[in-house]
Amino acid sequence: MTEQSPIINSIRRRVLVVDDEFINREILGHIVSQNYDVLYAENGAQAFEMIKSNKDILSLILLDLLMPEMDGYELLSLIQSDEELRRIPVIVLTSEKNAEVKCLQMGAVDFIPKPYDLPDVILARVGRSIQLAEDSKIIKETEKDPVSGLYTKRYFYRYCDIHNIYFPDSSMDAIVMNVNRFHLINEINGRNYGDEVLGILGRKIVKNLQGKNGIACRSDADTFYIYIDHQSDYDGFISDIANAVIEKTGNTNFSLRMGVYSESEKKFTVESMFDKAFHACSVQKNASGGYYSNSVVFYDNAMHEKEVFSERLISDMDMAIKEKQFKVFYQPKYNIKGDRPVLASAEALIRWIHPELGFISPGVFIPLFEENGLIHKLDRYVWHEAARQIREWKNKYHHSLPVSVNVSRVDILDPGLEGELADIINEFDLETGECLLEITESAYTNNSSQIISTVNNLRNMGFRVEMDDFGSGYSSLNMLASLPIDALKLDRGFIRNITKSEKNSRMVEIMISIADYLSVPVIAEGVEYEEQYRLLKDLGCDIIQGYYFSKPVCAEDFASLIEKELDLSAAEQKNT
Ligand code: C2E
Ligand code: MG
Ligand code: MG
Repeated sequence: MTEQSPIINSIRRRVLVVDDEFINREILGHIVSQNYDVLYAENGAQAFEMIKSNKDILSLILLDLLMPEMDGYELLSLIQSDEELRRIPVIVLTSEKNAEVKCLQMGAVDFIPKPYDLPDVILARVGRSIQLAEDSKIIKETEKDPVSGLYTKRYFYRYCDIHNIYFPDSSMDAIVMNVNRFHLINEINGRNYGDEVLGILGRKIVKNLQGKNGIACRSDADTFYIYIDHQSDYDGFISDIANAVIEKTGNTNFSLRMGVYSESEKKFTVESMFDKAFHACSVQKNASGGYYSNSVVFYDNAMHEKEVFSERLISDMDMAIKEKQFKVFYQPKYNIKGDRPVLASAEALIRWIHPELGFISPGVFIPLFEENGLIHKLDRYVWHEAARQIREWKNKYHHSLPVSVNVSRVDILDPGLEGELADIINEFDLETGECLLEITESAYTNNSSQIISTVNNLRNMGFRVEMDDFGSGYSSLNMLASLPIDALKLDRGFIRNITKSEKNSRMVEIMISIADYLSVPVIAEGVEYEEQYRLLKDLGCDIIQGYYFSKPVCAEDFASLIEKELDLSAAEQKNT
């Protein structure tokens, strides 16, 4: 039984008694009025008018069958043929057995035999019919998602389970379907348009389920779940659904991605089947190829192994911090403006030397830890370690070498960020300017207003902020002009082919002029070869980081780079 709030339970329901005989109305009305407010009608025609004008507040109709003008059968069929009136339950009052069956077939919910039973029995039947009708109304409202017309997730899982009970031997596929770049559709065209797209998708999905034992729900936002008879190929399925949106909206860029988990043995619960399908769907988000066209990925063994590996990393992280398995490496950044490259700063880059799994690249565990919040702890560990190292070098060489740390997009959302960074700086008695913060470009595009205010705060505290991976996100020139930053770090991707592709070198040239316009220096990372270095120098790049100078190295090895720099600059000073 659906639980209702105490307020709803305390409302006195209204019941209509329809009977042409005064004495019957009196008897029944007397009984029912103990628990309900009662309205009366003497015939079907009068009752119909009253029902229409009280349709929103009537909880039940008690209906006599034999009446002048309009009898109970006719009224019952009028009620049943009206979408809005149909929800009001009708109990028929009758002395004929045959009539009972006929009325139940016509849509009555129950009958009360004449002469009347004990008052308590009547009240119980009325109460129960009202309760059932209200429960089913609540179910109808919560069962379907109004935007897509599909089930809600809660009911969807229930119906999948019911399906499995009735068809234990069926081979079913769990599908998770998602709209590519849906946030852009919403941003560009507005939410109403977005809702319209979801509605088109809902209707088209339903069409495609026919004959395949399928059910579907909208899980949230633009994510749809589909449970359907096994198919080995979904190319036609996905393009049919996407084409419906393209035809209706004219948006030829519209595309979908789908993750499929096929499982004939039903070893897993429906929920975990969908977890796997979800995983297969979300791995595509990062794959550049699949993002702009329809794509279907089946969950397979390799994916399973990768998931197990990820789980392992997640569960090992705490211990790894305690056992100091994480090592902070440093990669130098050289200022190339003058006659010779001058060591300007370093970037702190984390490495995980796992006792069993060996070296694990940050490219593997950072995105994973960003997804589940563990990055919070890890980044603080790195910042702390980097600050300790700056202090150690400062004490040893009486020279301050700024070190940049990576601030993950997740950190930006943390309201305690400024305080935590300030604490670390204070703990090692450093200046805020000695610690540079690298924030990736895509973090700016996702939460622009929040990040701008956080970055403003950090800069007011004296931190310098570098925009990392510039060119890989979607910053508009307009947005860039209003961004509070101290340096642009060009994405490695542009540097890789800079000497091979005219287009890439032009791009870098343009990005350097953007930085000029913003009056901030440009840092190129991923510089591996002499030609790249020369070209970047010619184009006016300020700072360079890359294997050409040095790979990221451990703190001890980095110390020799500092020593070399100090020797060179001492020699230069001597000469001047
Ligand atoms: P990033 O911040 O853009 O770091 C630069 C990456 O480029 C580093 O990869 C570095 O080793 C690599 N690199 C530098 N020069 C060259 C080169 O000449 N050739 C090539 N092929 N690669 C070069 P790494 O250390 O694997 O880090 C990858 C990414 O992981 C980093 O990209 C950063 O986004 C993230 N990351 C690393 N350490 C941390 C950390 O402590 N916290 C956070 N939140 N992210 C980190
Ligand atoms: Mg970086
Ligand atoms: Mg970078």
